[in-house]
Amino acid sequence: MKDMISVVVPCYNEEQALPYFIQEIQSVAAQMAQKQVELEVLLVNDGSKDGTLALLRDYAAQHQNVRYFSFSRNFGKEAAMYAGLEHARGDYVAIMDADMQDPPSLLPQMYDILQTGEYDSVATRRVSRKGEPPIRSLFARMFYKLINRISDADIVDGARDYRLMNRTMVDAILSMQEYNRFSKGIFGWVGFRTHWLPYENVERVAGETKWSFWKLFRYSVEGIVAFSTAPLAIASVVGLVVCLAAVAALVVVLGKTLLFGDPVAGWPSMMCMILFLGGIQLLTMGIMGQYLAKTYLETKRRPIYILAEQSDEKE
Ligand code: UDP
Ligand code: MG
Repeated sequence: MKDMISVVVPCYNEEQALPYFIQEIQSVAAQMAQKQVELEVLLVNDGSKDGTLALLRDYAAQHQNVRYFSFSRNFGKEAAMYAGLEHARGDYVAIMDADMQDPPSLLPQMYDILQTGEYDSVATRRVSRKGEPPIRSLFARMFYKLINRISDADIVDGARDYRLMNRTMVDAILSMQEYNRFSKGIFGWVGFRTHWLPYENVERVAGETKWSFWKLFRYSVEGIVAFSTAPLAIASVVGLVVCLAAVAALVVVLGKTLLFGDPVAGWPSMMCMILFLGGIQLLTMGIMGQYLAKTYLETKRRPIYILAEQSDEKE
């Protein structure tokens, strides 16, 4: 065999989708074998509460090219991807969802693109968000606009985590051992030459999405905190603007009193100012708190995931 591709698959409550997935990936493996390329599949069980782990044990027993890793609890998709990358032995590593929203059939094409030697990774981008609630798409688009303005990591709208990378890039990603992981940012941050492969959105084959709107919202905040410090500057900018406004107001009030002898009637406007400034202060303190919290977690240097079980190592 010429090359080996490791396919990393995070699985959280995927007992319904996995049978389809394993069948599809094995047919891709057969296809790749003709190109003298070996495929190993790393299934990472992210603390599933359904029969996922039992399935993984079966697959590893049945298929020579399947290995599995099982977490002690749910650590999140980011941790599962990291664990997979860490254990991957291939010259190339692909990250792929278990629900077939990342079509395994694209893999041969992605491999061919890397073979030209012009790119270090091939990543996929959804050009449509068909089948997704409109409100979710709207927020997603707003998020990508915002984060690209305030961060220097290049984060592509519609980018999936589905990608194939060469060893150099995988090692670069593994060298980023931060605890608060935001892969979309990490992929962009490490650089390298990436080819973008557009495709139409595919709906998941079975089971339910693991992302509620609220979970996605928290994830986007995490992304911003992880890859931009711009929000920290909000306090100084707002502070400056408020100071300038106060000086202008002072001039107006003084002038009015001197010229017209007008006593200033003021308590409603004063209330507004107090509430407004109090609000801004609390908001900026909250933002600082977000960064402080992340710093706190980061300094603890906790492991990114904990394994409870894994398949017997095979050659
Ligand atoms: N996933 C995971 N841990 C989690 C949530 C999700 O490993 O806490 C996996 C899930 O099994 C799937 C992938 O991440 O393989 C993407 O999840 P999902 O399809 O629910 O997300 P969506 O495609 O709707 O964004
Ligand atoms: Mg999905």
